[in-house]
Amino acid sequence: MKILISFWLVCLPLKHLKINSDYGYRIHPLTGKYAMHEGVDLKARHDTVYAILDGQVRSTGYDDGLGVYIKLDHGEVASVYGHLSQILVGTNDSVAAGDPIGITGASGHVTGEHLHLSICYRHKYINPIKFLYELLKKQEHERQKFQSTPDPTFE
Ligand SMILES: [Zn+2]
Repeated sequence: MKILISFWLVCLPLKHLKINSDYGYRIHPLTGKYAMHEGVDLKARHDTVYAILDGQVRSTGYDDGLGVYIKLDHGEVASVYGHLSQILVGTNDSVAAGDPIGITGASGHVTGEHLHLSICYRHKYINPIKFLYELLKKQEHERQKFQSTPDPTFE
């Protein structure tokens, strides 16, 4: 029997991904200052937010900048979801990739509703879109490999 292991199941944080503001240096829309944007802003309108990977809720709360936020732990990777209107999970809850964890909103320091997503790898911010794209590519590759290999127990 073939058992599918050793690759991460990854899910997009929203059903539809449209980037409002990319990761990297930018002029901040509210302060007008040139500064690092340590995440990506995704277009959203009262949308359900999904956990990108299996993990555990590290914290939830309110921050002046991020607004209502959720931080998830996935081992060496951590993900942060900001400007929410609702939190659907509690601290220390276990979550699976694709589990609904919150609802988008416009809380905190924003000009309009969107989802702010940050991803840390070994405590350093990385480009979330590149990270998700790489994992999705890997997942698709594994899935195809799995499907194209006939299961010996059924031959
Ligand atoms: Zn942002």
